[in-house]
Amino acid sequence: MQKLTPMMQQYLEIKAEFPDALLLYRMGDFYELFLDDAVKAAKILDIALTSRDKQAENPVPMCGVPYHAAENYIVKLVDAGHKVAVCDQVEDPRQAKGLVRREVTRVITPGLVVEQQNLAAASPNYLAAVAENSGRQGLAYLDISTGEFKVVELDAESTVFDEILRVAPRELLVDEHARPAWLDQLQRRFEVTVTFVDSDAFDRRRAEKRLIEHFKVHSLDGFGLQNMKAGIQAAGAILHYARANRLGDCSHVRSLLPYHPHDYMTLDEATVRNLEIFRSATFGNRKGSLLDVIDRTKTPMGARKIQEWLRFPLLDLERILARQEAVGELVERPAVMARLADHLSRIQDMERILGRISVGSAQPRDLAALRKSLRSLPEIRKALAEHEGGMLKEISADWDDLSDLAERIEKTLVEDPPAAAAGGYIRADAHPELEQVTRLSRDAKGWMLNYEARERERTGIGSLKVRYNKIFGYFIEVSRANLSLVPDHYVRKQTLVNAERFITDELKTFESQVLEADARRMELEEAIFRELRNWLAGQGHRIQKMSRKVAELDGLHSLAETAALNDYRRPIVDHSGDLSIRESRHPVIEHFMEDGSFVPNDLELNQEAQQVLIITGPNMAGKSTILRQCALIVLLAQIGSFVPAERARIGIVDRIFTRVGASDDLARGRSTFMVEMQETANILRTATPRSLVILDEIGRGTSTFDGMSLAWAVAEHLHNYQGVGVKTLFATHYHELTELAERLPRVKNFNVAVKEWEDDILFFHKLVPGGTNRSYGIQVARLAGIPGEVIDRAREILIQLEAGKHGPPGGVAEALTHRRKVRAARPKEAGFQLSLFRPTAEWIQEQILALDLDRMTPLAALQTLYALKERLARSEL
Ligand code: ADP
Repeated sequence: MQKLTPMMQQYLEIKAEFPDALLLYRMGDFYELFLDDAVKAAKILDIALTSRDKQAENPVPMCGVPYHAAENYIVKLVDAGHKVAVCDQVEDPRQAKGLVRREVTRVITPGLVVEQQNLAAASPNYLAAVAENSGRQGLAYLDISTGEFKVVELDAESTVFDEILRVAPRELLVDEHARPAWLDQLQRRFEVTVTFVDSDAFDRRRAEKRLIEHFKVHSLDGFGLQNMKAGIQAAGAILHYARANRLGDCSHVRSLLPYHPHDYMTLDEATVRNLEIFRSATFGNRKGSLLDVIDRTKTPMGARKIQEWLRFPLLDLERILARQEAVGELVERPAVMARLADHLSRIQDMERILGRISVGSAQPRDLAALRKSLRSLPEIRKALAEHEGGMLKEISADWDDLSDLAERIEKTLVEDPPAAAAGGYIRADAHPELEQVTRLSRDAKGWMLNYEARERERTGIGSLKVRYNKIFGYFIEVSRANLSLVPDHYVRKQTLVNAERFITDELKTFESQVLEADARRMELEEAIFRELRNWLAGQGHRIQKMSRKVAELDGLHSLAETAALNDYRRPIVDHSGDLSIRESRHPVIEHFMEDGSFVPNDLELNQEAQQVLIITGPNMAGKSTILRQCALIVLLAQIGSFVPAERARIGIVDRIFTRVGASDDLARGRSTFMVEMQETANILRTATPRSLVILDEIGRGTSTFDGMSLAWAVAEHLHNYQGVGVKTLFATHYHELTELAERLPRVKNFNVAVKEWEDDILFFHKLVPGGTNRSYGIQVARLAGIPGEVIDRAREILIQLEAGKHGPPGGVAEALTHRRKVRAARPKEAGFQLSLFRPTAEWIQEQILALDLDRMTPLAALQTLYALKERLARSEL
């Protein structure tokens, strides 16, 4: 064993407290990492790995980052999934006797980030926790960067899973002794850091006590948390974790807001994905999503607000109407809207700046940004002055300009502060002593010039220079040629190739005065800044209130601007259960098309007569578009937005379900068909008569008969659901399903019109009543560029196939048996080479023999089996 230096001993002691974090250990101007931490960090940060004590037998690996740039490095380490513990010197090294005392001042984990570089401005950064109590599931989540803290209780594990996906936390705390069954699936489905926490943190009594202490209240009833045992446990665990990671008192976390799952429209993960609400499938990011169209916010708080609205569409009519009304008032006053846009866009992320103020990490530039933001508040108040309705009224009520805050920052901070470490961010006139010492360091330059002139004259060395550098401090430089003229009291300090450097007593005295003044100035600046920051933290509730008002206003403004620019109309929202949409457009697709070329469509759904629409039409006609369009319009209406339609009446919908498109989910080990059936199962299990169900091409992933039968049964089930049925839009290429309309009273047929013209097909993108019985697959294939000879051959085969079809089909079952008979008879009848299509016994044998089973995954084997079966099934038709 080598003997450890005292410093290494201190390091190891501190490290032992935070074994699972990378420890950044402050030494002088650097944060150093040692041992394994250094090896890991050097790789992630792409910095040199060196070692301490190189001569020793086992040198200690180390690497370091400059303290003033530490934030950037911490960001990278956290993004790479690490916890980072920052260990600072907690006493002045100049005053320390022996080793400087050091302590971990903060631990940064993905869910506890307040640093700006680490946060996507437009998204919240949630730390969530789940807890269970007597079968109830509690989910709490906190955005430490803004102080938002919410809690919900659910009664089933599956719904907590969906709610977690909706909230999309960056980090999730789980009781280490209660591993929920869905945890693996969650980690496979989306990126989240799961942190296991000691069961004690979830103890109900202690959790409650912790919350009561934090909020300084007598009981939690005032927050409406009565009976929320599991929720309190989860929330308590979050506070525990924030404390354990030394986040200070988190005074900006001022309340815990409970909500009920029934307050908001439920959107499961598949629906959010299928409707491309936050990201599009095409671009894989925000572009082409609904959010991208309606997010015209000017501030990061507003951007987060509008996302929240989309994640939590409302069910409460009054709240919807309040937002609508505000949007309406703005739409009618373009001049006010323009003024608001101008002032809002000057506002920075006040909410997160407050977060940093509260945990003590705000920098001078943060406060300058806050000051800039505060200057807009009076202007916004004036712009809002005339409004009397909806949320605008609520927002302008008890408005606070925060002018005392702006003034105090104004008086303290220079207009454009430098990056902190250098000093010079506090106004010299903010403090009498500061003014004095600042003058001294400012005058240093003048003194130097003066002294230089004096010494030149005295020595007769015209090229003599007085200089300063960080290593030597102040010195006099004399070129080699003039060395003979140097007076005796000059003390040689350094020899260069062409010159020598000297100091004098006078220069030394001056230097220590200046250095002292500089140090004093830094000290004073830091103290003044800290005082200002603490004072602002004390005013946090006011900053927070105004940040939230700005966020709401910005969100409403964004909806209004979207409505004005895209010609949206105010929908009538009520509890009728009807959906009646006239001349509606798809809010996203219309942007990707030439102006006016999108064909608007009408759509009518109700509980009484027209509840399940079977929509047929060839590929490319526009079936999917109209389905999604309808869902998106309902969604927009329920966040209080105007909608892309001439007129709309929307009966509030409690859930939107979608089963759209077929995308393989191989990474998660599920075949297309499996995904499709799981999503369908979820719909059939959880829909209510108030839901809206969107089904696009269900049953596609299996053989025709299977698929058609499933589709038929699903449609029937939805029609008869709980005796009243569910509003459903069902797009299908199985023409046979149009027969449902004859059998079930509330099923209606629609199709998206096309017209055959010469050999081509014209798409009208118009939804019209009635079914179709043609697919136009060959025409579409031609449009897609399938070579002419293949198209011609396909046409030939089709004619032959159709020649075998007799008479109008009866019921589906009859039609199918009929077809099967036709197929069986066809080879002779039509002289058609069925061997082209029908897999022969030899062909199947060949296929199976060719399989290399040892190298196949079970999934690939299953898929091959599917494919073979599909071939067989197709050949039956
Ligand atoms: P389907 O589901 O019937 O195969 P889609 O809904 O995917 O068809 O539509 C195919 C394409 O047709 C869309 O990408 C879009 O470009 C165009 N389209 C669809 N609906 C309309 C419309 N109402 N007006 C103009 N173009 C449309």
